[in-house]
Amino acid sequence: MLGNLPIGGGAPIAVQSMTNTDTLDTAATLKQVKQIQGHGADLVRISVPSIEAVDAFTKVRNAVEIPLIADIHFDYKIALATIEAGVDCLRINPGNIGKQDKIREVIHAAKDKGVPIRVGVNAGSLEKDLQKKYGEPNPLALVESAMRNIDYLDKFDMPDFKVSVKASDVMMAVEAYRILAKKIEQPLHIGITEAGGLRNGAVKSSMGLGVLLMEGIGDTLRVSLAADPVEEIKVGWDMLKGLRIRNRGINIIACPGCARQNFDVIQAVNQLENELEDIATPMDVAVIGCVVNGPGEAKESGIGLTGGKKESLIYMGGKAHKKVTNDNLVDELSKLVRDEVAKTIAKSK
Ligand code: SF4
Repeated sequence: MLGNLPIGGGAPIAVQSMTNTDTLDTAATLKQVKQIQGHGADLVRISVPSIEAVDAFTKVRNAVEIPLIADIHFDYKIALATIEAGVDCLRINPGNIGKQDKIREVIHAAKDKGVPIRVGVNAGSLEKDLQKKYGEPNPLALVESAMRNIDYLDKFDMPDFKVSVKASDVMMAVEAYRILAKKIEQPLHIGITEAGGLRNGAVKSSMGLGVLLMEGIGDTLRVSLAADPVEEIKVGWDMLKGLRIRNRGINIIACPGCARQNFDVIQAVNQLENELEDIATPMDVAVIGCVVNGPGEAKESGIGLTGGKKESLIYMGGKAHKKVTNDNLVDELSKLVRDEVAKTIAKSK
């Protein structure tokens, strides 16, 4: 459990991101945590790079309900202070803390407060001796590093942990996770680290995490992008929605548009995505430019639109519902979606 959030053991795969504000800037960090949460994050990680940052972290902790993970390297005092501050999970590698008594103190403090630990191995920061042994980062080196850290947790009788073995190389990360999944029963946090910018990083992450998720590997995920953290959450959700693992918000099914399109499909889809971004209730909405694929897709979706010459046809629940003029179709569709969402919410109460 991370706070009230179950991880692993069949719980829904949790989507997370990490703030990129200066943690000392409490207002900016708090604002970003809320933005990330507003887009569907289940948990948020915050770097706590100094003992001074613990105060700021504590203020954020006290201002939000969402489970928070503190990202800490090397300094056991910061780890102890964030445990006291009410952190929900520590991302720390025991092997990096230093002497055994410090490691023991952190692990025992975490255990006493019911705070799980995330061991996070990264191909870019493998231990020197492992780099020497393997020559270069590879899946076995990542797993060996993870198992070393897990040994510390075992030694101090700490069973509540999750593990990540990330690399920017997709196949290296995938293979490392496959090996690790056979070795331990604890949850795995999956991600392709330093994946790149929005498009490149989303593609790499989708390939790597897609393979793992389809093999049943992964209990929490982060899409690491050199982009706004909110984009990480959106891409993470798109992956889970694409694989029908979890559902949230409006899932737009759209054709690419071609010479047959009866309205500007791309513009309509972009507008709808922006306008309906705040909705969390799951619903499939098809936006198709002409009758070639329109009726078929519309029948499979909660709401569907098929482009006609001057007027387009909206389907509801698979049946023709009403015609709308093409210059007004985004507004009409958007309104119908919101009405349906309101009905779904009312029914669920
Ligand atoms: S559904 Fe129609 S408009 Fe869309 S890509 Fe196919 S043929 Fe073109």
